[in-house]
Amino acid sequence: MYTVTQLIGGVWGAGGEAGELTVHDPADGRPVTSAPVATADEVDKAVAAARGVAAEWAATSPAERAAALHRIADAVAEAADDLAQATTAEMGKPLADARGGVEAGIATLRQYAELAPARGGRTLHGDPAAIDFMTPQPRGVVAAITPWNDPVAVSCGLLGAALVTGNVVLHKPSERTPATGWLLARAFDTALPAGVLSLLSGGPTTGAALAAAEVDMVAHVGSSATGRAIATAAAGTGAKVLLENGGSDPLIVDADVDPSWAAGEAALGAFANAGQICVAVERIYAHRDVAEDFVAALVERAAALRVGPGRDPRTQLGPLVDRRHRDQVHGQVIAAVADGARLRVGGTLPEGPGAFYPATVIDRCRHDLALIREETFGPVAPVVVVDSFSEALRCAADSPYGLAATVLTGSMSHAQRAWRELPVGTVKVNSVFGGAPAGAAHPRRASGQGFGYGPELLDEFTATKAVHIQAPGGGHW
Ligand code: NAD
Repeated sequence: MYTVTQLIGGVWGAGGEAGELTVHDPADGRPVTSAPVATADEVDKAVAAARGVAAEWAATSPAERAAALHRIADAVAEAADDLAQATTAEMGKPLADARGGVEAGIATLRQYAELAPARGGRTLHGDPAAIDFMTPQPRGVVAAITPWNDPVAVSCGLLGAALVTGNVVLHKPSERTPATGWLLARAFDTALPAGVLSLLSGGPTTGAALAAAEVDMVAHVGSSATGRAIATAAAGTGAKVLLENGGSDPLIVDADVDPSWAAGEAALGAFANAGQICVAVERIYAHRDVAEDFVAALVERAAALRVGPGRDPRTQLGPLVDRRHRDQVHGQVIAAVADGARLRVGGTLPEGPGAFYPATVIDRCRHDLALIREETFGPVAPVVVVDSFSEALRCAADSPYGLAATVLTGSMSHAQRAWRELPVGTVKVNSVFGGAPAGAAHPRRASGQGFGYGPELLDEFTATKAVHIQAPGGGHW
């Protein structure tokens, strides 16, 4: 069992007056982690302590901070097995996927270590007697509030980019993966001066206290409802907000594609990490010409997935994060069926311990079902049949979210229409995942605001200052 401690003002073991929370292994329900819950008062004290070292960290050279980030990457690599095991124990994903998330996090840390010192501002050409330039500066005190679904990769991105650009960071990992956050903070702390990184644990109340505290920036990766609450709180303090939030990503299956190949892409997009990926396939618009064969092939793939605990290397589909989340997923499925959709496979609560949910395929869905319009975040593939590519594009675009979309088509003109017309941050053609390293996009609408990834994330964590220097008395220097 993991016993998490907080890191406040450079001191491990501080605070936790609001009590304790326990995390249960979603595979079998046994307790795996106990973590303190920070009070609002502890949050304020942590912010004040962080503020106390902010100027010193901001004054270090970019090369020095980059070297620290490389040392952090080394420490995370050393702790990789422990981090992967903690992730699997706390949120259930297959161990190999958890390990992949750690590797992705290490790669991101190294990328930011290389990129950050190479960045600069730009010089301006005004009065020839003056010197004018624009230069990025650290924002100061950053609150990073992160989710459970890919806890190491997401946290490494935010924390790495914030630290290497000269900010001090207060990290609050998800209450569903506190031990993973704690192990990560221990690795980071080995390479940082005391106080530069703080770790606070707790749930929404602790997060809300942090979002309302006197910080300079709040970076949140998580659900859209939380993102909205954070934006409201930060409006009261003037903190900059960076939001990478939920999605309901469409997959369009065009009339000219091989239905069996399309089913493979759909299964990967909808069932990987039990559907608990921000860019999971959440709704499918299949052209009538291929819909029947496509759904049949998808049902076959769903039924063939090996279900089990994430620690078993044979497992392809682990449990959902917990039973509370499983109830939400199942509630959407039941409501869709009550509304006329047809269950083709899955969709029933299994007997036994844990939070398992079967890979589920539902056809005869209407575009206005909650299952289609809301984020489900579970291993559910709902299919809407459409009569044309234009109808598919129209439905795909009609969503409160705007994170990403995938189009499977053999038509170059359809691919071109898709990337031009879909109001989302990322468009993928003929592959549900993948994409070049260092890609970054602006999510739209309820999916968030700002760049959450790539070199552009470094810009988000800095504020640009314009400087104009004139010689005294109006003369030349
Ligand atoms: P969540 O928003 O419930 O929780 C994320 C973090 O926010 C946690 O640390 C939580 O304690 C904190 N929090 C909760 N309520 C808060 C409040 N009122 N004020 C401040 N902080 C609060 O999200 P989750 O369930 O952990 O994660 C799943 C969601 O994250 C999904 O919607 C998924 O799409 C999204 N996600 C998005 C991306 C992306 O890049 N767009 C990546 C991963 C996950």
